[in-house]
Parts: sequence; structure tokens; C-alpha cells
Amino acid sequence: MPNPNAKFSKARRSQRRAQYYNRLEKNAPELTSCSNCGATHQMHRACPSCGQYRGRQIVAVKTDA
Ligand SMILES: [Zn+2]
Repeated sequence: MPNPNAKFSKARRSQRRAQYYNRLEKNAPELTSCSNCGATHQMHRACPSCGQYRGRQIVAVKTDA
């Protein structure tokens, strides 16, 4: 059976796993602030707090909660 011919040190193992977390950060959705209400929302998506995207009302937002 094929086997690794050397044990990877803890440093090597940590470096490999650290790349995974760097990738998570890179693939995190880009956030921007809404031009209408100023809330933080995902880029190229309607604002969750006011429901507007590029100045137009896209999603109906419940005002009473
Ligand atoms: Zn907004």
C-alpha cells in the first residue's frame, strides 16, 4: 500500500491548514454600504434593510416587526 514516507511536522501541518482559512476569507462575500440607508449589505444584492438596489425598490420590506 502507498504510504507517506515522512511524517509532516506540526509546523507543516499548521501551514497547510492555515491555507484553508485564508481561502475562506478570500471567498467571503464582498460587503458594501447601502447608498439609500447606509446599512451594510452584500455587493450586487438588494439591501436587506431597505430592499433597494441601485436606487430602485426590489424587495418589499416589512416595516412593522
Ligand atoms: Zn438600504
